[in-house]
Amino acid sequence: MAPMSRYSIRLYGDPVLRQRTADVEDIDGTIKQLADDMVQTMYDAPGVGLAAPQVGVQKRMFVYDTGDGSGPVTILNPVLAGARGEWTYDEGCLSIPGLSWPIVRPKEVHLTGIDLDGNEISVEADEFLARVFQHEVDHLDGVLLVERLDEDQRKEAKRILRTRALGLPDADPDGLSTLASDDRPARHSGL
Ligand code: ZN
Repeated sequence: MAPMSRYSIRLYGDPVLRQRTADVEDIDGTIKQLADDMVQTMYDAPGVGLAAPQVGVQKRMFVYDTGDGSGPVTILNPVLAGARGEWTYDEGCLSIPGLSWPIVRPKEVHLTGIDLDGNEISVEADEFLARVFQHEVDHLDGVLLVERLDEDQRKEAKRILRTRALGLPDADPDGLSTLASDDRPARHSGL
């Protein structure tokens, strides 16, 4: 087996993050190696979830490890259903480092997909695990968390990200920002 290696994580502004991905058709050695390398990249970040587009690969797959002791999990061709309730969580993204926002999404979801052995997976998830699933499936649809912000949050995010694109620091000259979060680290920013 080839040694694991790490990718560099694609950042906000990279067009690969805005494209919808294609189903994994064959679970071959390439896919298994990719899964290993994504897990390594996720741990190195460090993060708790990573989707294939974040390493530049247009496949419907993601890896996660919520740190509950059961180790890393790879999900291929995930589908979400059964969204219920609402849950607010301070959500960040490895592709938008250092920023997070309180985002409301469904509290519970049902995820189906297949694992690396081709077995069907069916998971009822709530709260944090449900959030990981929704965030990663968004990545596979070319959706970034800035699109899940409310109007005020989105304006603020665009301002910060535009400033970053110009190579300027994130500083808020008016001291009015409650959203820039270098001084308010997310509990889990790595998704
Ligand atoms: Zn993300």
